[in-house]
Amino acid sequence: MGTLSIVATPIGNLEDITLRALRTLKECDVVYAEDTRVIAKLLARYEIKKPLRRLDAATETEKAEEVVARLEAGEHVAYASDAGTPGISDPGQRLVARVREAVPEAKVEAIPGASALTAALSIAGLATGEFAFLGFLPHKKGRQTALRNIKESGIPIVLYESPHRILKLLEEVGALGIARVTIARELTKVHEEVLSGPPGELLEHFTANPDTVRGEFVVIVEP
Ligand code: SAM
Repeated sequence: MGTLSIVATPIGNLEDITLRALRTLKECDVVYAEDTRVIAKLLARYEIKKPLRRLDAATETEKAEEVVARLEAGEHVAYASDAGTPGISDPGQRLVARVREAVPEAKVEAIPGASALTAALSIAGLATGEFAFLGFLPHKKGRQTALRNIKESGIPIVLYESPHRILKLLEEVGALGIARVTIARELTKVHEEVLSGPPGELLEHFTANPDTVRGEFVVIVEP
């Protein structure tokens, strides 16, 4: 029976990859990836040549069957999403569930590494004994309920957000009466920035500096 390695990849800085991840990518028979162009760049940087196959959110169910067949044939399959840890607001979770169900004898191993979630928490300067991760909030249906639940949770809530909606999110959490929000932007990249304060102040900051309303954001809301 084969092995499925779930490999964490960098969230911006290509140096953020573990020695074990590189060894796994070198040793496996095939790399499945959310986007073969993204993984190809990483592999080129480390001079690794491997057959690449796409497995993204739209094809995860169908491609999981292909991976199952490979594991049954004794192959070593690696899976990587575009950035960070697969399965964390990324494809990978349905693949793992299907493999565990269809080939329970196969080894499924984590090759841990970067995630925007843990990177942001590690430099936010909050008490992180307890927190909840909600990923991306729903855009429409269920959004108001999710926001109300955040307010009532009493623990830090970590969210992912796109630049298109960051100002709207700050307005919404401001309207809930949330006292403090921390935003970690462009982690591990040249323009990495961490800002903390009342949502209204952060909104003013981004409105005055529209150049910084771009890139990738982790938002930590402290109800
Ligand atoms: N699997 C990834 C992980 O482990 O962090 C998350 C993938 S999710 C599709 C992408 C979101 O993660 C972005 O929209 C942003 O909210 C957050 N993110 C990813 N890279 C980031 C970075 N370098 N800085 C800040 N946030 C980041």
